Amino acid sequence: MKTIGLIGGMSFESTLEYYKLINCEYQKRLGGNSSAKIILYSMNFQEIKELQFLGEWEKLGEILSNAAINLERGGADFALICTNLMHKVAPSVEKSVSIPLLHIVDATAQKIKEQNIDKVGLLGTVFTMEHNFYRERLEKYDIDVVIPDDNERPEVSRIIYDELCRGLFLDDSREKYNEVINKMMKNGAEGVILGCTEIPLLLEDTVIPAFNTTKIHAMAAVEKSLSLSIL
Ligand code: GLU
Repeated sequence: MKTIGLIGGMSFESTLEYYKLINCEYQKRLGGNSSAKIILYSMNFQEIKELQFLGEWEKLGEILSNAAINLERGGADFALICTNLMHKVAPSVEKSVSIPLLHIVDATAQKIKEQNIDKVGLLGTVFTMEHNFYRERLEKYDIDVVIPDDNERPEVSRIIYDELCRGLFLDDSREKYNEVINKMMKNGAEGVILGCTEIPLLLEDTVIPAFNTTKIHAMAAVEKSLSLSIL
């Protein structure tokens, strides 16, 4: 059983989900009182969010790399960044440690391919939807991306920071997200990536297949931690 390193707290609402999903899956698979070996490095999300809005991606890369270095020193065999957006700095995190980083887009792309879907809608923070890092990684798997319209993206993103990351799950916001998904479907999306680790806490049913990145990433961590392969 390998030790899982989590870079979390972005926000703590979704990190709680990772912790629970991973441990529940361990219990299901191994029985008894089994639970996972996890080291969590949890951030102050206010600090992270301020740097995101200032465009300080280099600084953010340093902060997350420092977390990864600490996880490696503490004995983690591999690491996860428990947010979609912060994979924007995954390349610098990967460079700073010798343990592997389990990338959220790779895990999600595999699930999308399994369902023979070629075009997906993407919901997430404005940075995840508009910057290239997420879309380009999906394109490597021949998956095309549709994003919400210009006038919808700010609201999709605001809901994440002002509500979901603060534990507020409102019916109006659920309705808004479903409206946006419907439009992306009309623009050719065959499925939708819940590309923010808090969105699955708001949305249960969607008109098209939804890819819950929190669950997909957490389950990939379980697989990797229980696999016998050399990392
Ligand atoms: N948890 C969110 C995500 O998966 C957003 C929080 C953040 O990292 O800014 O992208």
